[in-house]
Amino acid sequence: MGEPDFARRREALVSHLRREGIRDERVLAAIGQVPRERFVPPEFVDEAYVDRALPIGAGQTISQPFVVARMTELLEPRVEHRALEVGTGSGYQTAVLALLVAEVVSVERHRTLSEEARQRLAGLGIDNILLVVGDGSAGYPPRAPYDRILITAATPRLPEPVIPQCATGGRIVAPVGERYAQQLTVFVKMNGLSRTVVEPVKFVPLVGEHAFEENN
Ligand code: SAH
Repeated sequence: MGEPDFARRREALVSHLRREGIRDERVLAAIGQVPRERFVPPEFVDEAYVDRALPIGAGQTISQPFVVARMTELLEPRVEHRALEVGTGSGYQTAVLALLVAEVVSVERHRTLSEEARQRLAGLGIDNILLVVGDGSAGYPPRAPYDRILITAATPRLPEPVIPQCATGGRIVAPVGERYAQQLTVFVKMNGLSRTVVEPVKFVPLVGEHAFEENN
């Protein structure tokens, strides 16, 4: 058996996402550029272009491509933006976003995941990122304000410390709800914070001081 043709599978995934309703061509182009097979464990490489979440170790998952595309589209990223991601995980979403904005700061609580993500991103030559190990439910004040904030783990509410770290006119996208079922929610910060509920999603929980408690 020869090497699987990942480039062709990636193109097929992009077509699939377009049919599923992803409209932002820049987001589709970014998905078309990031080799997802490098962000999944070796035993799942063959499923890298199936539109579903996959385990990445430490009980966590790499998000489903459709959800990555949808969240990125909802974020309305622009090249001059600085973005904060909470929940680096595999680094796949970080990579997609890094192709669309000036800088991504991404916080992950599991050091092992952050280090694996760092190696993958470095291997792809993606260097407009800052990976931080810590509790992202507190955001990351040293680089605030952020034009865009993406929370890629389920949270019971928008973590309060993150709100002042969002620039005026900025957007925050997060899966908000219960531990096992959430609504993808877009917040826009003007004088106050507006909220638009988009669609149901299922993320692993955001565990931290301003989110869910650890439970086993
Ligand atoms: N964006 C990721 C999705 C990762 S799943 C990807 O594309 O692969 C969510 C991640 O959030 C997990 O890796 C989990 O460890 C992390 N996480 C959970 N609580 C966190 C917290 N308080 N701070 C930072 N990361 C957190």
